[in-house]
Amino acid sequence: MRDIRKGDQFRVLYETRMHEGRPTGSGRVLAVQYINDGKLIEAMWFAPEGQNGGYYDKDGKSLKAAFLRSAIPFTRVSSTFGKRMHPIHKRWKMHAGIDFAAPTGTPIRATGDGIVDFIGNKGGYGKTIVLRHPNNITTLFAHQSRFAKGLKRGDRVAQGEIIGYVGSTGWSTGPHLHYEFRVNDKPVDPLGIKMPEAVVLDNKQREQFYAQALPWRDQLERIAELQDLDSNLQVAGR
Ligand SMILES: [Zn+2]
Repeated sequence: MRDIRKGDQFRVLYETRMHEGRPTGSGRVLAVQYINDGKLIEAMWFAPEGQNGGYYDKDGKSLKAAFLRSAIPFTRVSSTFGKRMHPIHKRWKMHAGIDFAAPTGTPIRATGDGIVDFIGNKGGYGKTIVLRHPNNITTLFAHQSRFAKGLKRGDRVAQGEIIGYVGSTGWSTGPHLHYEFRVNDKPVDPLGIKMPEAVVLDNKQREQFYAQALPWRDQLERIAELQDLDSNLQVAGR
């Protein structure tokens, strides 16, 4: 999206929780329409069967990137992907991941929706979690101080969910997160590659999405008519 301009409009459709006929609070945002410089931008909530929900555009394309760039937002990369002198073994070695400097206890977040494939001690990696994602992608999070409470193998995690905490277990010289991104079990540079797009809806899901979006769009349309009426009245009152 570009800049917000004067005359832009937005309309939001959200759930209201009711108890005995009285509203008790607002729930999820279901649909948003934003008119930016005369162009309609739309986002609709949709949860494909058996998957986490998210926001989709008018063509049924997910608005979420499949992977976050970093498992710890707003942190410093202390060691990049590629060959380097190993800080402990003092030899040139391939660094198959990225190190993020962060104090012990900093939450580590799943970079994409996935399933816990491994959780436990893994030699030099120390306390480690491996997540399995679609398209033969796995992510690995090493040297943790502890894992998220109750997290176990086979659990489904959502993008952005806290899975563990930064530490210095295994072969580590200080607290940091060692993060690996593997495609077909081959490590790649997560900062270097073009990230895969979010999973696209299949035909059946897309039909379900369109069917669900239709009445919401009608409701937003009614709001739009009221907005037009309102702005006409304002002009008339000047
Ligand atoms: Zn590392």
